[in-house]
Amino acid sequence: MRALLILAAVLAGVWLWRNIRGSDASGQSAKTDEPVLQDMVRCRQCGMHIPGSEAIVGKQGSYCSAEHLRLSES
Ligand SMILES: [Zn+2]
Repeated sequence: MRALLILAAVLAGVWLWRNIRGSDASGQSAKTDEPVLQDMVRCRQCGMHIPGSEAIVGKQGSYCSAEHLRLSES
């Protein structure tokens, strides 16, 4: 009977600990997902994927470099 009480106490402790950690982990994963979801765009000229922040945006789409923007849109 005593072993059951100890087991119940341990399980309750683990459950509480996981709940606390679980809420922390979900908050962290929501933050770490953002860079992964950051827009990867495809160069219309060569097809290379580049981060949206580094892409050269032209009238018809995004490019990896100014050179490919010129080649594709001129
Ligand atoms: Zn390119």
